[in-house]
Amino acid sequence: MKYFSTRGDAGRLDSAEAILKGLAPDGGLFVPEQLPKIDADFLASLAPLSYEERAAKVLGLYLTDYTADELKGCVTRAYGGGKFDCGKRAPVVHLTDASVLELWHGPTSAFKDMALQLLPQLMSTALRKTGVTDTVLILVATSGDTGKAALEGFRDVPQIKIMVFYPDGGVSRIQRLQMCTQEGANVNVTAVRGNFDDAQSGVKEIFSDEAFNKKLKEGEVRLSSANSINWGRLVPQIVYYISAYVDLVADGTIKAGEEINFTVPTGNFGDILAGFYAKEMGLPVHKLVCASNANNVLTDFLRTGVYDRNRDFFKTITPSMDILISSNLERLLYHMTGDTATVAGWMQQLASTGRYDIGQDLLTKIQEVFWGDWADDAATKATIKDVYEKNHYVCDTHTAVAYTVARRYQEQTGDGHHMVVVSTASPYKFNGSVLEAIGAATEGKDEFDLLDELAARNDNPIPAGLASLKTKPVIHQKTCEKNTMRDAVMAFIANK
Ligand SMILES: *Cc1c(COP(=O)(O)O)cnc(C)c1O
Repeated sequence: MKYFSTRGDAGRLDSAEAILKGLAPDGGLFVPEQLPKIDADFLASLAPLSYEERAAKVLGLYLTDYTADELKGCVTRAYGGGKFDCGKRAPVVHLTDASVLELWHGPTSAFKDMALQLLPQLMSTALRKTGVTDTVLILVATSGDTGKAALEGFRDVPQIKIMVFYPDGGVSRIQRLQMCTQEGANVNVTAVRGNFDDAQSGVKEIFSDEAFNKKLKEGEVRLSSANSINWGRLVPQIVYYISAYVDLVADGTIKAGEEINFTVPTGNFGDILAGFYAKEMGLPVHKLVCASNANNVLTDFLRTGVYDRNRDFFKTITPSMDILISSNLERLLYHMTGDTATVAGWMQQLASTGRYDIGQDLLTKIQEVFWGDWADDAATKATIKDVYEKNHYVCDTHTAVAYTVARRYQEQTGDGHHMVVVSTASPYKFNGSVLEAIGAATEGKDEFDLLDELAARNDNPIPAGLASLKTKPVIHQKTCEKNTMRDAVMAFIANK
């Protein structure tokens, strides 16, 4: 299976090369040149397997240049070894009006672990396969969650180092502790004096600084990124849609072959796009419901065919969905049109005017698969309270956005296919908003008190990674200015 750019100008690559490159040189995203098909027999064959074994089989359909043994090693290191606190890795639980697919049993308690545990393994295997001997330095600017998930995924992975910049004072206390207590011989965490934009633009400038990259290259170091446009972050996410379906058949919730719906809390469009790949491969999926928060650019797009990022940006209680450019949508547009020149044109318009219009015909085609709506903070909190009261189940804010939209979809369309709400974070990660929603007092309590408050109401215990923060030693205390980030990178490289 070969990969090429959604903008058409980057040749045909093996998956290992596409994963090492991340972004295509023409600015596009790598896509597989055809989508492998799965059938009822394939799904039935997954039923007795562990999550790791299911993952290896699904990945094998896409990463055809990796051997079966290589994939087996990658998935074992990613999901095994006690890093996940649930044997099923991504379990499905049943509530009164929907099932919930829990994707937050990994080391950092958010769904990004599903991909960021595996990407580093795919990358280091790709280095070996392609004979690249340079050290890869992963640079990340983070507003909180991605940084920690990337650190956990890349720690102690051979031939790779990771450096995370976060805005000084711009992340929560728990998020800062999660990063600054990070262990691993190949990791560095540095605070940047400034806000998230300063950290992010600083990292972008380093990526595009040719002289600096040349200097790194002389020391046999090359830069790479772990963000969600990398194919190696998307392909692991296809697995849990298929695995959830297999589990629903096995526990008798649905019959083999029966179509189901998924509702996905969406930011960068990566998670829901993986669901689209699963459907295109032949998984019996009827509708993919795209749930947004007040930054509802995707809701408008799915209703009008116009993508327009020229709008106010809102800070919500679902920070991981506070996004106005959903990069992975570019892949959907390619698969729906098969036309790289048209996609390149729209992306050009997005860059220059912040807007593009796909027209009615394509919109109709997209609406056959997708439905979109959004929930504000008040509706999100009301859902957390209602789900808690009806099921004694505590869901996080992002999951509650999806739950709200899933119910609205069912009410408005009368569609009775079984609904799976994709749950992207442990409620403990967003404990303040969750406790407020279920009516608990939070004033005067610090974040560790809040963990205990929530534990008293939740059947799931406090995740070990969060509970241990109270006593873990702080390892990383460095701070730099935006204009000294390059020096910080050089110092890190020279040190090890
Ligand atoms: C990243 C994230 C999302 C959004 O996922 P996308 O793939 O960017 O659409 C939703 N919820 C949580 C908790 C996240 O961390």
